[in-house]
Amino acid sequence: MNPIWAVAGAVAGLLAGAAIRGTVFRLSVASGDPERIACPRCSAPISRRLALRCGRCRSSLGPPLALELSTAGVLALLLGRFAGQPDVVAFAFLGVLGVALAAIDIAVQRLPDLLTLTAYPILIALLAGAAIAGHDFAALLRALLGGLALAGVFLVLALIRPGQLGGGDIKLAGVAGLALGWLGWPVLIVGAALGFVLSAVVSVALLAARRVTLHSTISFGPFLLGGALLAMLASRR
Ligand SMILES: [Zn+2]
Repeated sequence: MNPIWAVAGAVAGLLAGAAIRGTVFRLSVASGDPERIACPRCSAPISRRLALRCGRCRSSLGPPLALELSTAGVLALLLGRFAGQPDVVAFAFLGVLGVALAAIDIAVQRLPDLLTLTAYPILIALLAGAAIAGHDFAALLRALLGGLALAGVFLVLALIRPGQLGGGDIKLAGVAGLALGWLGWPVLIVGAALGFVLSAVVSVALLAARRVTLHSTISFGPFLLGGALLAMLASRR
């Protein structure tokens, strides 16, 4: 872990967290509903550009500082671990996107296509750039296969147990599989497994605390992303 790059990652994360606040607010709506374009408190229209709070009543768009601090933490870890490697830009992009997706999934239990599907061309382009810079085309091929494999596994799981995993989870699994596959097949397997372990541990804790019942559905996106992050940080590449 490089401490200087970790601090740089934290600072960049604070800014990136503020930058995604408006997008997370707009997309935090139930499936099929239109984007949120008005302040929930005073109904004033929210700027489509960078927006942290309502221009009229000044109320914060979402919990204050939650996105900024989460993104700062994630980018501090990723830059501290991967700075100096050609894949750091791709991973930083995935880190910021992951925080936005996790926040929306926790709020409204969905992973919008606008973010998951847009992530594919961007992440593949960034990994292709890293492959050219590092002369490592085997890693790029493995990333593409890893994305296909993880999306395929999630598709099968969703078909076996309908209602547990949604289409958004399958698309996000493909995105996570790209990054995990880039780092190696063992990283992909560990990352995917960690997502299920984290989900199970938190579900049992929430059941014990009577915060959920056996019939509740818990968003899987944050656990998939959390497991992938832990496996990436622990990888040896
Ligand atoms: Zn307002």
